[in-house]
Amino acid sequence: MTPVIELQDVSYAYDIGPPALEHVSLTVAEGEFLGLVGPNGGGKSTLLRLVLGLLQPASGAVRVAGASPQESRRVIGYVPQYARFGREFPISVEDTVLLGRLGTTGLLGGYRVADREAARLAMTQTEVLDLRRRPLGSLSGGQLQRVLVARALACDPRILILDEPTANIDMRAETDIFDLFKALNQRMTIVVVSHDIGFISRYVTRVACLNRTLLCHQPVPIGSEVIERLYGMQMQLIPHNHAFEREAKT
Ligand code: ADP
Ligand code: MG
Repeated sequence: MTPVIELQDVSYAYDIGPPALEHVSLTVAEGEFLGLVGPNGGGKSTLLRLVLGLLQPASGAVRVAGASPQESRRVIGYVPQYARFGREFPISVEDTVLLGRLGTTGLLGGYRVADREAARLAMTQTEVLDLRRRPLGSLSGGQLQRVLVARALACDPRILILDEPTANIDMRAETDIFDLFKALNQRMTIVVVSHDIGFISRYVTRVACLNRTLLCHQPVPIGSEVIERLYGMQMQLIPHNHAFEREAKT
């Protein structure tokens, strides 16, 4: 087993509020498809930002592909939560996907042939090539998510990290996009944050449950509803302010 993401006893607190993460240790092996679940505010997005090197742990260590997250930034393709940027901005699908090449390519002189080819390949894989001339604002939620996945794939990552990629799309589009992740998992490690444990347990190889600390992580028993019941129960044990959650969503 080759570890590609390693968190050792990681804690993190924002400037205000209680610690977002405390003593989290988690290793993700190359080729895994990990589902990260937990209540709203449980620290899922924070954990991903630490892995991406966007935040530094207060204590503990984060390693990505055997190096620091900063050094390994290019091995990760990332689809952030609430990535509704540019919906009104007049940018085409193709130009959005090309943005995924920034950091991989030299900016001077514009995009090269290799960049356009990588973007085309990513759009083909995510089945948005036909949409490439369309403005971003004209897409459905499911199409937009696919474009954002294409943008993340354009840098040819070893690891694909998605933060609630299906929060705003319908069930049909959700199934389609997870089928895509499953196909991509043949050649890359995937970490996906989701609220819907029952749904993702049909796809992922392991589920980790995070609520400030890592409550548990274990392989998903194949063809079993056990995991849903198990995590469902554990989630219910966690004090959970639904009124706040509704507020946060609106
Ligand atoms: P999740 O993604 O599981 O919903 P987050 O990682 O977004 O959880 O948040 C974990 C905790 O950190 C929450 O209590 C949240 O309010 C807090 N938090 C998140 N982002 C910030 C921020 N930029 N500044 C201050 N507190 C934050
Ligand atoms: Mg989040």
